Amino acid sequence: MWAVPRPIRGGRGVHTGQMTDLHCPMCPCDSLLPYDACCGPLLSTDRLATTAQELMRSRYTAYFYGNREHLWRTWHPKTRPNPVTVDPETEWTGLTVHETVDGGPDDETGVVEFTATHKGGLVHERSTFARRAGRWFYLSDEG
Ligand SMILES: [Zn+2]
Repeated sequence: MWAVPRPIRGGRGVHTGQMTDLHCPMCPCDSLLPYDACCGPLLSTDRLATTAQELMRSRYTAYFYGNREHLWRTWHPKTRPNPVTVDPETEWTGLTVHETVDGGPDDETGVVEFTATHKGGLVHERSTFARRAGRWFYLSDEG
């Protein structure tokens, strides 16, 4: 079960220096959890996100690994671009979640404010999420 996707481009290793065990890489989303206990099962579709923040983290990790399939299937059909594109030149370096409003297991909508950093800049966004047929989807940037 160590089918950990590699970053698209070499030279970066397995993210930061938080690794404690070679067989247990930390998740790129900076949760301080192992990838296999965090975004891994979401990207591999072994399970669905139960909260909006969990989905948001998995989408950051999908950007980190260049996983367009995961971005596509977690993007609300109303707002989803076609095709979903990922800039392979962007090297993501970290994620900080500032605030979460609703978005829990019993909510229908949620907002997650975060900053995602990459080499050369950052993305600060208040993302809105909506639940549809029991699944969380990324809707849009509230601004
Ligand atoms: Zn994660």
